Amino acid sequence: MTKPRVAILGLGLMGSGMAGRVLTAGFPLAVYNRNPEKTAPFAKAGAYVARTPRDAAARADIIITMLADDHASRAVWLDKETGALAAAAPGTWLIESSTASELAAAAKQKECELLDAPVTGSKPQAAAGELLFLVGGSAEALAAVRVVLAVMSRDIVHLGPTGSGATLKLINNFLCGVQAASLAEAMALLNASGLDKEKSVAILTSGAPGSPLLKLLTTRAAANDFTPNFLLRLMTKDLTYARDEGQRHKIAMNTATAAITDFEKAINAGYGEKDLSAIIPAMQKP
Ligand code: NAP
Repeated sequence: MTKPRVAILGLGLMGSGMAGRVLTAGFPLAVYNRNPEKTAPFAKAGAYVARTPRDAAARADIIITMLADDHASRAVWLDKETGALAAAAPGTWLIESSTASELAAAAKQKECELLDAPVTGSKPQAAAGELLFLVGGSAEALAAVRVVLAVMSRDIVHLGPTGSGATLKLINNFLCGVQAASLAEAMALLNASGLDKEKSVAILTSGAPGSPLLKLLTTRAAANDFTPNFLLRLMTKDLTYARDEGQRHKIAMNTATAAITDFEKAINAGYGEKDLSAIIPAMQKP
């Protein structure tokens, strides 16, 4: 059976790993990235490098975006001159892996169906094809694109209609963000108290609060390694979206608001382009 043609728009920390998996699995691939420098390794590996999202979309049966935020999504899908949707042929399957917004209705007008398929897992999981896709949309659309999602993931969970995947992703990242912020506050308190840091962290991470995220973030902070797997700035964005989503349902989301205060402090201190774990050193400062 001929493999469907795939376009991946957005070659950041996550999209580049995902595109690598799709290419290695032998799918014809077109890639687009706003900063064209990131496309160079894919050109070498045989992908078509598109100059605009529209150019990539015209060559694809399945279009996947992996972008920073709603603003980027709107620009890449909907721009009248260069946007992907303008060139999507009827029946093209559209997959929004960053955040779903008003795209589903725009896709329908073009006789295309949109799935939201955000992921859990980070840069190493994207590169290894070990992501978990959280999918919203019709079962028929998911059946059509499963063959491509499969090469990028360890599992694919169908959660319900369009928007379901994005909503669970926000809830997932809200829980991660507030944990990271409270860990950073705990570490600041621990330091200020003059407790033995190593002993104390070992107790915290092996006890009830010792979630996989706490273990990961304390390990990275101990190694002083803040090379980005998940940009601190993007966690701030997810916390803000989660707070707004909660407020739409009249849920106060007080812990999200508090965590956003910590994350904004970290961004103002210059930690936005570092890994999420840099919230720990950022909170050591008064
Ligand atoms: P990233 O490395 O910052 O990549 C962001 C991508 O969006 C880049 O391709 C960037 O292009 C593009 N972009 C940003 N603004 C744009 C605009 N206005 N127009 C066009 N393109 C734009 O981020 P990432 O870590 O890959 O994350 C991508 C998405 O996945 C985010 O929604 C994030 O929340 C989510 N996510 C990330 C992780 C993780 O661990 N990293 C895990 C799960 C989900 P340039 O290269 O030109 O800047």
